[in-house]
Amino acid sequence: MKRILIIEDERPLAEAVAFNLEREGFRVDVALDGESGWEKCLEGGYDLVILDLMLPGVDGMEICRRLRRDSDVPVIMLTAKDSEVDKVLGLEMGADDYVTKPFNMRELLARVKAVLRRWAREREEREGKEKGLLRAGDIILDRERHEVKVGGRVVDMPLMEYRLLELFMRHPGKALPREYLLSQVWEGDYFAQSKTLEVHIRRLREKIEADPSRPSRIITVRGVGYRFEAGG
Ligand code: CA
Repeated sequence: MKRILIIEDERPLAEAVAFNLEREGFRVDVALDGESGWEKCLEGGYDLVILDLMLPGVDGMEICRRLRRDSDVPVIMLTAKDSEVDKVLGLEMGADDYVTKPFNMRELLARVKAVLRRWAREREEREGKEKGLLRAGDIILDRERHEVKVGGRVVDMPLMEYRLLELFMRHPGKALPREYLLSQVWEGDYFAQSKTLEVHIRRLREKIEADPSRPSRIITVRGVGYRFEAGG
């Protein structure tokens, strides 16, 4: 169960937010001032903090700064004025999102869910990188296992195709020249020619493209080479 901390000095508002979040299945703690809010933050274990900007004692801006310095818990700020938004989302504070008061409870819930989803995805990517995984949409290249999965299924991939795909996945969205691909994948093999590359691209497309005749992953860039699109 995800844990959310609300730091908000308007008790009725804090309680209404807590009630709605609990109804959505979250475990919620409430702090009614900055000091006790910060103490709860230090105890840790929260998946998200909803933080009022204007608080008695230690204000929301200061708490947000400290959180950014000491942890990576996502923060949604509650602000009274739209004019504060730049400051709230900017480098100075670095909140993940904000809601302007007065707000609609459904809007806040939507923001909470979006921030949690984004954060989970980012964590997954971070952990994946550490484990040597490259991901692009439904393609996963596992460098430890030397294995490629497409849509959850292991795909048989000879060495040169594997190396080509790895190169593409390391440089998504960039047009890679043919000469570069040849030199990187076939290294010192000077007999490898454009034709060789084309054949391997075709085989790779058959394995990772939904429709290999109309590629959406490995795009031909005329006069240059190929560009890999990571996709959803
Ligand atoms: Ca307040």
